[in-house]
Amino acid sequence: MGTACALRLLQAGYAVTLLEKSLPGAESSAAAAGILGAQSEVSSAGPFLELCVASRALFRDFAAELRDLSRVDISYEDSGVLEVALDPAEGRLAAGRAEWMLDRGLNVEILDRDEARKLEPALSESIVGANFYADDHQVDPIRLAQALAGAVAHLGGVFLSGERVVSLLTEGERAVGVRTQNGDHLAEVVVVAGGAWSAQIAGLPPLRTQVKPMAGQIIQVETRPPVCQRVIYGYKGYIVPRADGRVLMGSTLEDRGFDKAVTTEGLQRVTGMALEMAPGLAKSRFVQAWSGLRPATADGQPVLGAGPLDGLFFATGHYRNGILMTPITAQIIADLAQGRAPALDIAPFAPQPLVDAES
Ligand SMILES: Cc1cc2nc3c(=O)[nH]c(=O)nc-3n(C[C@H](O)[C@H](O)[C@H](O)COP(=O)(O)OP(=O)(O)OC[C@H]3O[C@@H](n4cnc5c(N)ncnc54)[C@H](O)[C@@H]3O)c2cc1C
Repeated sequence: MGTACALRLLQAGYAVTLLEKSLPGAESSAAAAGILGAQSEVSSAGPFLELCVASRALFRDFAAELRDLSRVDISYEDSGVLEVALDPAEGRLAAGRAEWMLDRGLNVEILDRDEARKLEPALSESIVGANFYADDHQVDPIRLAQALAGAVAHLGGVFLSGERVVSLLTEGERAVGVRTQNGDHLAEVVVVAGGAWSAQIAGLPPLRTQVKPMAGQIIQVETRPPVCQRVIYGYKGYIVPRADGRVLMGSTLEDRGFDKAVTTEGLQRVTGMALEMAPGLAKSRFVQAWSGLRPATADGQPVLGAGPLDGLFFATGHYRNGILMTPITAQIIADLAQGRAPALDIAPFAPQPLVDAES
């Protein structure tokens, strides 16, 4: 989020410094699976769906722009997402989900078991059906982080890596910069994009919701030839095949603070879920496993927007869908910094506590 906002702010004419306690893209953004799941990941119609759908629509051009600026290809793949129902109850859930998506005019194909298995023969014989979302795509998040860092460097952004922000600097009702362990950095605009660590910055005003870490573990295996082409998305987890034969299996959702351990229990759960959907993965070769900390919010919605202090902006709390929401977030922050109203309704994501109109 930090590098993406930096990119759009540099393009708007700002001089930008990125203060990063580690390396840009070292944390959650490098741990993600990279599903652009505007449909597969969203549970109902509303402003959050619209934010996700709008960001998804930006991705193809975003990938091309990043390749031009950084020479890094983010492996944008448009083979779609197959949301699989494993039993009749999940089948009813899938049917209900297809209904609201079709009402909204989104692209959904409702498939029975044989149609789904024709599309992806690796699927278990015991599935009951699937929804196919042709417009949900995927990228490689590590390459996305590399491309963003390259693009920002190309446009003259200054990286101060290993620099931990400890507090916000304010004057009256205005944010005027931040303090790090090495000194003060004054700025006209401050964008908080600290992922799961965002709430640790001292001096921030009260927010609509806390942002806290929610761990997720992923296993990477390899299959040659590739075992499937489309993302297989179940209600307990997902399988993400890359074109080169890498396959990601994810993910757990664990509330255990800033602990990024990969655990045997986590590996077992993720493997069990993946093999239930695609038993042929049992013979795939294990490559590596990792875990990352999603920036989770109490209401599942990002903390995105301006205020409550002048000059202060938030681009955090994107929880399970921060890769998907990268381009729209950066655009919204750049619009707000320049005093322009974003094209979308972002009121539900406001950083400050929502004021009850009745009170
Ligand atoms: C297992 C897993 C799978 C996921 N899969 C997907 C997916 O398929 N699709 C999708 O869209 N999303 C996915 N996500 C979610 C996505 O990864 C996150 O929503 C997104 O990466 C958040 O980006 P961010 O920039 O806010 O956080 P981060 O990438 O964590 O970046 C925050 C940065 O801020 C730095 N920082 C923090 N505090 C300070 C400080 N005080 N001073 C200086 N620097 C600081 C950190 O070092 C870090 O580099 C997944 C996440 C996980 C963990």
